[in-house]
This record gives sequence, structure tokens and C-alpha cells, in this order.
Amino acid sequence: MDMFKESLKKSLRYISEEMFGKQNYNAYERPHFTVHPLNYMLKDLVEIPPMEWHSYAFAREPLNNKFSDSQRKNWMKKSIACGQKYARKIYEKYNTKDPVELAKFMKMNVSYPETPDRTDRVLFAEYRAPNQICIYMDAVQKANVYLKQPEVREILTENLNIRYLLLAHELYHNIEDTHKNEIFTQTEKIRLWKLGFIHNDSRVITLSEIAAMAFAQELSCIPYSPYVMNMFLVYCYSPEEASGIYEEMMKRANRIPVPYAV
Ligand SMILES: [Zn+2]
Repeated sequence: MDMFKESLKKSLRYISEEMFGKQNYNAYERPHFTVHPLNYMLKDLVEIPPMEWHSYAFAREPLNNKFSDSQRKNWMKKSIACGQKYARKIYEKYNTKDPVELAKFMKMNVSYPETPDRTDRVLFAEYRAPNQICIYMDAVQKANVYLKQPEVREILTENLNIRYLLLAHELYHNIEDTHKNEIFTQTEKIRLWKLGFIHNDSRVITLSEIAAMAFAQELSCIPYSPYVMNMFLVYCYSPEEASGIYEEMMKRANRIPVPYAV
């Protein structure tokens, strides 16, 4: 476990993708950040409406430099709608919003190890096709300690159950797998190049992440974007890194980060 912590510290420097999925490593090393109080950061971030997360959401997209801002906004809207639509479909089908129940109906094999086997990346949950989901409990348990603070609970609301939220996000990735041919986040592609009859089309990974967040938000009935968890869960390991993430999130949503330091 100590090994995990040590390498987690290192890998926190390379947060180049969101924390609910795979990582890549071509990010810069973050500078040092002033540590902000958790409450202030959460209060600001829960105010950002889902649509205003588009710049943050696409910042980790490998193909991001090929898109215009209006393209990003359009995709944001469609991906959120897609996530919400499939959330409604699934709870109407199984008559529950409880992701543990849904996982059973969907025949998922869910495990709750403390930490990932591979320790070279920051990861809080993971889906592996066809039916494996891992929720890493070390982060969840640490976050639950902060959630016991009445102010934190009040901001994040009674509806927040972090383990359920992570599970719901990963369930969406399975739904994508099983609806490959018709689900927007799988069928939408961009043409990378074309030469005569030959062309190469690519999926846009960020669309899946946006939809998975919207899906998880819809099922858990929280009034803010689950992207907030990217800051909160990192805070459990490094308040400084989390403060950097908070500043980035605020700037990308055209908001001014709080000037308060701890
Ligand atoms: Zn994901």
C-alpha cells in the first residue's frame, strides 16, 4: 500500500486524463499551487453547470487541437443528452436507479479492491470489457472521511454516494459496449485523413467520458457535474494537486478561482 502511495504521488504529476479511465503521460509537470480550503473549492465547482465543463472535459482529449470551440460545445450537448437518455432507459427497464442493483441486472462482475494492481497511474475506478468493473476503495474511503464534515456534506448533498457514482460511471462504458452500433458516443467519428477511397476515422474518447458523467449524474440525482469528483478525490491524496485542478477547472469555465489560501 505504501508503494501505491509513493507512486501515486509521482503519478499525480501526470494527470493528463480524467480519473475514471485510462491515463496517458504526455502532460507537463505541474507547477506548485497554493493550497485552497476544500469547502471553498467545492462550493465554487458545484456552481458550474454541466455545459460549462466543455473546455475542461476536452482538455484531455488526444485529438483536441483538431476541434473548434463550437464543435466542442455541440458535442458536449449531444454527449450529455446521450448519457441522460441511456440513464433513463436503464432505470425504466430495471425500475431502479441503484447502480449496485443495475450492475447485477447487467451481469457485471464488480470488485472493490483497495488500490489498482498497476500503480503507475491515478485511477479511482475502471471498466474492462466485457463485464469487469473495479472500484478502488482507498480513495473512496478517504473521501468519505471528508464527507463526514457537515459543511462538505451540505455542499455535495445527501444524494452523493461516491462508490455509487463511480460505479454508475463505469456502467455507462458497458452500455456503450453493448450498444456500439447505435449509441452516439460510439458512432460519432471524425475523419483523420482521406486518400482516394481510403480513409481513417476515429472515435472521440472525450464524448464517452462526458456521457458517462451525465449518466452517473442522472442516476445519482446530484445537482452538479461529477467532474467535481476529479478535484475532490485527488484532494484526498494531495491538497496541492487538487488546488491546481480546481484552478484549471475554474479558468476553463471562465470563472475566477478563490484567492483564499489555507
Ligand atoms: Zn470513463
